[in-house]
Amino acid sequence: MKKLSIKTKIMIWFTAALILISACTSAVNFSISREVLNKSIQERLVTAVAANAQEIEFYNSNSGEMEPNDFFLSYNGGILEIDDDFLNYNEGVFTALVDSENNLIYGEMPIQLNDRQAFSYTTVGLLKNNGEKFYIYEKKLSGENLDGLWLRGFISERENTNVLYNMVRIMLWLTPVLAIAALLGGYIITKRSFAPIKLIDSAAREITESGDLSKRINIFADENCKNSRCTPGKDEIQNLAITFNQMFDRLESSFDSEKQFTSDASHELRTPLSVIKANCEYALKYGDSREDFIEVIQTIAKQTDKTSALLNQLLFFARLNQKKDKVVLSKINLSALTTSICKDRQIILPDELNLEADIHPEIFVNADESLMARLLNNLLDNAVKYIGSGTSIQVSLCSNETSVFLSVKDSGIGISPENINKIWNRFYMADPSRSETSANGFGLGLAMVREIAELHHGRMEVLSKPGSGSTFTLILPINQSSM
Ligand code: ADP
Repeated sequence: MKKLSIKTKIMIWFTAALILISACTSAVNFSISREVLNKSIQERLVTAVAANAQEIEFYNSNSGEMEPNDFFLSYNGGILEIDDDFLNYNEGVFTALVDSENNLIYGEMPIQLNDRQAFSYTTVGLLKNNGEKFYIYEKKLSGENLDGLWLRGFISERENTNVLYNMVRIMLWLTPVLAIAALLGGYIITKRSFAPIKLIDSAAREITESGDLSKRINIFADENCKNSRCTPGKDEIQNLAITFNQMFDRLESSFDSEKQFTSDASHELRTPLSVIKANCEYALKYGDSREDFIEVIQTIAKQTDKTSALLNQLLFFARLNQKKDKVVLSKINLSALTTSICKDRQIILPDELNLEADIHPEIFVNADESLMARLLNNLLDNAVKYIGSGTSIQVSLCSNETSVFLSVKDSGIGISPENINKIWNRFYMADPSRSETSANGFGLGLAMVREIAELHHGRMEVLSKPGSGSTFTLILPINQSSM
């Protein structure tokens, strides 16, 4: 039983339940019907005997008003008139007229009662004769000179057996037909419902065996789902298959980006190490003056700075990912933080660069202060790095009813439209030769900025025109920020 599929288990359970329910219902139905029919034929017997009792009259003498079709008997010194409406046999009921000596006077009796049995059935009783059961009922006639006369009625139990037999016959073919129809319907529904599970199972197996995360559960591969009427997402299992596919999409894209990130990071780390190794080999082979060695050591120091800067950024990303679920956002004064960062920056800026700040006071947000500082510093680093022949950088902080806006605008080289969507990717550099000059130019700055913005439930926007400058804006929703 344990090894059976859920589909088979459900079918077995429903078949057994259906058979049991049909058997119980039929048994209850049968016994109730028998009771009702027994009562009904007993009532028929009593009613027929009572009706026939009305059709018997006694006359003292021949009155001359006698109807020609009636039956006449001399009785008790007078005439007994039995009306032609008296029915000896009607709808299964036999009726007979007997005298007090138990002699048949008129009518029919399927069973002869002996003297001991006679006149003891004033309520309906049951008698057996040659294997056939009869209900019997006796009624004493009342009225002038009718004393001592009895009407005796019989009805065979077969009268209801026939009805029951018909009922059982109908039940015997109707129940299996209905049961088969119900099971067939159940089988089709279960088969259709479980089809995507088979697909989920085989897709999961294929992914496990091949390690290929691009595989998906093809809901339309289900043969029951090939026609146009079958749209996915109709029931829970199809929805489950869609959710699995969406999960595979996310897994694949995050797996791919992690793979890309690792390969880019290794590449970036290999370059300075190769430069260091080459310089060492050169110095060992050809270096013979102090100046040669100083030059090599300076190159090594520069590459070491670069490697260490890259490692710091990678470490930061790793910590950011670890922090993602448990970052604690607290109410900070973004106006004060921005003012302080701008002041510090003004001190170290070259004389030809002018940093202006337009900061609305007392803007509070729910944020991680060090991450916010990192975001603003990255934007300022870029504004300085890509200033080209421009001279001004403007920082502004303001808010409206729904959002807080923090932007860094420069009059630098700008970004070409074809590159503008790529700048947020990790390790993307529009022109690596320009970043080469800087120790921290690895194409990680803006990726970091975007992750920090998303961590604060905000987003980044950029407007840029090559040759005129760029504006990077952080937009934080007001329900995440507290004013
Ligand atoms: P990096 O500055 O280390 O190259 P970033 O992720 O900070 O990496 O930036 C990615 C790319 O976006 C840069 O290589 C540069 O081409 C472009 N970029 C970023 N900020 C600016 C800016 N203010 N002006 C012009 N280009 C920019």
